[in-house]
Amino acid sequence: MASFATGLLCRECGETYPAEARYSCEFCFGPLEVDYDLDAAQGVVTRESIEAGPNSIWRYEALLPDPGAEPVDLGAGWTPLRRATRLAEVLGVKELWLKDDTRNPTGSFKDRVVSCALSSARRLGFTTAACASTGNLATSVAAHAAFIGWPSVTIIPSDLEKSKIAMTAIFGGTVLGVEGNYDDVNRLCVELVAEHPGWAFANVNLRPYYAEGSKTLAFEICEQLGWTQPDQVVVPLASGSQFTKIAKGFAQFRELGLVEGPAPVLFGAQASGCSPIATAFTEGAEVVTPQKPNTIARSLAIGNPADGPYVLDALRQNGGDCGSVSDEEVLECIGLLAQTEGVFAETAGGVTIAALRQMVRRGTIDPNKSIVAIISGHGLKTLDAVVDTATVSATITPSLASAQEALRSLQIESAS
Ligand SMILES: *Cc1c(COP(=O)(O)O)cnc(C)c1O
Ligand SMILES: [Zn+2]
Repeated sequence: MASFATGLLCRECGETYPAEARYSCEFCFGPLEVDYDLDAAQGVVTRESIEAGPNSIWRYEALLPDPGAEPVDLGAGWTPLRRATRLAEVLGVKELWLKDDTRNPTGSFKDRVVSCALSSARRLGFTTAACASTGNLATSVAAHAAFIGWPSVTIIPSDLEKSKIAMTAIFGGTVLGVEGNYDDVNRLCVELVAEHPGWAFANVNLRPYYAEGSKTLAFEICEQLGWTQPDQVVVPLASGSQFTKIAKGFAQFRELGLVEGPAPVLFGAQASGCSPIATAFTEGAEVVTPQKPNTIARSLAIGNPADGPYVLDALRQNGGDCGSVSDEEVLECIGLLAQTEGVFAETAGGVTIAALRQMVRRGTIDPNKSIVAIISGHGLKTLDAVVDTATVSATITPSLASAQEALRSLQIESAS
């Protein structure tokens, strides 16, 4: 089915543009987003038409930017939504679901947005894939570029986790490590866009198309809940793009009559070492004040979040809240999630679970209503964070006596 995308729309002044390579408004410099003709889609985009699609984000092609001849599809999306009964019990909530986006081709939710961005980039005649990244985006861009035979230039802070650098470099593109933080990287990329017109920076000049990929999280959650919306969703925040587009995804499904009921309440999750949105929310501030990040949750370490103001508005209008958790809580909750549900998440997943727990404790998340937690990246991506604590229980010699002695001192009963 063809896409019902009509073009670009200014998020500030409403000016419209064709679906071309443009990312800010000529009149007000506001950010642009992809617009759709949902009236035309009424009755054409149905539960049945979606269910007949592929097991990837492209089952929602009608509600994504036009990919051109064929999408760049490495298999992003259609990840499991798991009922988490054991974790729910520990957290004291009734109905908890994990949207397990560790299961994407390169192990993070970024595959959704990159698949969208590079599909549009190819349609628009770009020839090189690029991005400013906190790590996961670089990996996904490099992988998708390799998949279509494009060169890639990915730009990251040089002190990122070794595992994320390796996971990016292995795909053979150019990886530039910047001596600075993500906000420095992003500024640099805005300058590079002007110098390299053939380069598609997924999250800079392709950002309107990139951002749409996050809607598929909302689409999948609805479909996997039997075409119903959850009551509450906890979303990790970096630039805030995922959050705003999850809200847009639920809204589009409601408008098309694919699901019913009120908008789910969305909750944000940040690490206290980089919590510009949580801070503005709790202080009741008008604006999001940039911070200098210092947290192990590197994938969320954006001190000056582009979508921050939109997230803040949404949190205030819809009765949401935003958690802010310490690195110790992040590590504890990576363990808690692994030990109760068998799901190994990266630091961002620890942030989501720790923030969820915090907001249940302070009563802003209703424990009696359904909750979906977005687990956005795989634990193998941030192994550095846990290698010192997740180790062998004991080191023994290869003898029965040594094993038995170790088991005794660990108080492991022979009957169990
Ligand atoms: C990028 C990222 C996010 C959130 O990104 P936004 O910029 O807020 O859209 C969440 N989790 C992980 C693991 C990420 O890599
Ligand atoms: Zn405008």
